Formats: sequence, structure tokens, C-alpha cells
Amino acid sequence: MSEPLPAYPVASATAATITLADGQELTDGMASWWCAIHGYNVAELNEAAAAQLEKMSHVMFGGLTHEPAVELGKRLVDISPQGLNRVFLADSGSVSVEVAMKMAVQYQQARAKRGRTKFLTFRGGYHGDTTGPMSVCDPEGGMHSLFNGFLPVHRFFRKPPPGFTAPMEEAYLEELRMFFADYAHTAAAFICEPVVQGAGGMYFYNPDYLSVLKSLCEEHGLLLIFDEIATGFGRTGKLFAAGHAGLTPDILCLGKALTGGYLTLAATLCTDQVAEVIGRSQAKVLMHGPTFMANPLACAIACASIDLLLRSNWAERITLLSKHLALHLRPAAQLPLVKDVRVLGGIGVIETHRPVRVAEIQAFFVAQGVWIRPFGRLIYLMPPYVVTEAEVEKLCSVMVAACGRVEFFAGEK
Ligand code: PMP
Repeated sequence: MSEPLPAYPVASATAATITLADGQELTDGMASWWCAIHGYNVAELNEAAAAQLEKMSHVMFGGLTHEPAVELGKRLVDISPQGLNRVFLADSGSVSVEVAMKMAVQYQQARAKRGRTKFLTFRGGYHGDTTGPMSVCDPEGGMHSLFNGFLPVHRFFRKPPPGFTAPMEEAYLEELRMFFADYAHTAAAFICEPVVQGAGGMYFYNPDYLSVLKSLCEEHGLLLIFDEIATGFGRTGKLFAAGHAGLTPDILCLGKALTGGYLTLAATLCTDQVAEVIGRSQAKVLMHGPTFMANPLACAIACASIDLLLRSNWAERITLLSKHLALHLRPAAQLPLVKDVRVLGGIGVIETHRPVRVAEIQAFFVAQGVWIRPFGRLIYLMPPYVVTEAEVEKLCSVMVAACGRVEFFAGEK
């Protein structure tokens, strides 16, 4: 409130280019916080929006239903991990996590496990900014201390060791089993971001840990919730990150790229079993019903976005994007300010030893014609899938150049 960072006025955006009000063009490395996977001003999505507007922008979703929601539900059931047959449509990623948490609590209540109101999770996670999600975000990186006394208290276990291909560590697994033995009886579910922790640190871990989590949850009567709001729709190289482990969680949260970045919409999917147990409870329904639930305009765009993604040889695109990110970010690994360079799917990360000075580095990026928004000690790319190799090279080379300049970094923490 008192020291605002500069904000750059935008006039328009097309494909992977953002045009500022002064005419300056920026190659987009962020996909607008990872949601604009097809880039901007996409003909197919514009058409879907215009066609839906002619019919209706919105009607309530209580006692009424409509084709865009039904069609979106079908598509999500078709493409998500096998067995997730029930879909709840909500208005944002954070709300879909709230819904997932309420589902888990209602599920345990229905099984007469009323004491199971806690959640287990990894440190280093990020699940959104409303109360429920905030309470399972990383206790140090998140807002726990600020909202201490207001947030519910849950149980955190250290995140899996780093590295997508790093071998599993038996000592870690042993501790994880002990953590479950100590706390599972109080918990409704384990919630995590599979394979990639996003806003909590752009951190990758071996998918095999997810299989262990799944069996521990089964053994101890917990549900497993995957928050794929950041990883869903191809970003990590699989359509959903759960696919790296070949497993189905009990509950799945989707958002961000669901509408190709056009409108806010999110989904919480669950298995028949979860839905049926809740259905047999005293409440009989999932107790959540937001005003803009299943907004038809957003649903119509989401259907068009999924169709476009599925016809777009997305897997090949992500493989190529990954190769180009790895190739063009590699020179950063030699720089003294750089701690680590890592790439997974369409995510390229430079982790530095010191925090970035956001205003200064941002001004440099804009002057160089790129849009990259770093945070903490992380400068990363999650570009729209439509970026060309030349655009990726430009984004990476500007990032590497910035990492050679000490004035863009704060003093040692
Ligand atoms: N979960 C994850 C993994 C996220 O990355 C985000 C957003 N960065 C959220 C939840 C919250 O989504 P939203 O900002 O749409 O509320």
C-alpha cells in the first residue's frame, strides 16, 4: 500500500505478445500467471465467447442447467484421470480448493468420522488465498504468521526431496509413514500439488512419492486431494501431473488454464465413491453453491479451450518447449548469482542465491521487450504453448543476462 511497484498499462495482447499502451511489445513468458496456454486473442475462443453471449451470459445453476456446463462436465470426466466422474464447477482456483476441503470433511462426517477435520500436507505448497487454502499453504512462505489465530491449524510434513528424476529416499518415506501414524486419525485428507509445487517455490519432485502417498491415504482412511490448478492441461508434459504417477486421486482441483485464461472458472472433480458417501449423509448434498457456479460464458469458452488443446498436438509442443527452455537457460548455470536451473515440461526456472529486486529487474525485462514476473529468488518462465523457438530464446537470453547483473539482486538475506 505504501511502496507500490510500477504497473505497466496494457493496450492489447495477441498470441504470445502483450502490447503496452505506449506501443512497446513484450514477449510473454508468464501466460498471465500460467492460464493463457493458447496465448491471447485466440480466434476459436473469441468465437465461442461471442456465440455464447448471443444465447446468455449467465443463469443461476440451482434448479436450472445448461449445455455449456453439461458439455464441460463430460469433457473433464473424459480427459481427467480415470475414475473422476463427478464435477463441481466453481469460480476460482482458491474456491475449488475450499470445495475440495469441504468435500473431504463432509465425506468423513458421512462415515461417522467427525473428528477428522484436519488436513495433512507438504511444506512448500501453495493452494490459494482464501481461508481454507491459505491454511494449507507453506507455513513460512504463506500468510500463517500474519493471520495467526484466524487460520485453522493443520499438519505439515517436509516436502519430498528435490528432483523429478531423483531416486526415492527410503529415510524420507520412513518419516512420512511415521507422520501418517501420528496424525492421520485426525485428518480428512492429504492435499498437495502433484510433482510441481508452483507459487511455493517452482519445485519439482519424483512422482513415485505420490504413489506412496496414495497407499498411505488408503491405509489410514484419508482422501487424497491433488491441486492441479497450476499443473493441469499439459503444463508438465502430461495432460495432468497425476499422469506421471499413473494414479487417480480421490479429489482433483482444476482452474487457471481451464478457460485458456479467458475467464475465471475452476472445477473440483471427485470419484463416484466420494460423491456417493456424501449423498448418503444427512446433508445429502455438497454444501456449496456460489452465485456464478457453472457460469455459461466461462463454460462455453472452457469447452472450446479443451477442444483446441486436444487438437493442437500439445504433447509435442510441450516436449519441444521443454527442450528449448533447457537449451537456452543452460548458460545461467555457470553464473555465480545462480543456485539452480531446472526445467520440467513448459516450466523453466532459474533459482538465484539472493532475492530479486522486482522493480529494477522488471524495468530491465520490459526495456528488453519481454514480460517476466519473478518472485523471491525465482525467475521463471511458463509461456503460452504457442511461443516460437525464437521467442523462447529471447525470453531465456534476457533472463540469463539479468542473472549476470548484481544490481538486480538484494543483499544476502
Ligand atoms: N492452487 C494452485 C496450485 C495455484 O497455483 C493457485 C494460483 N496460483 C491457486 C490454487 C489459486 O487459484 P486462484 O488464484 O484462481 O484462486
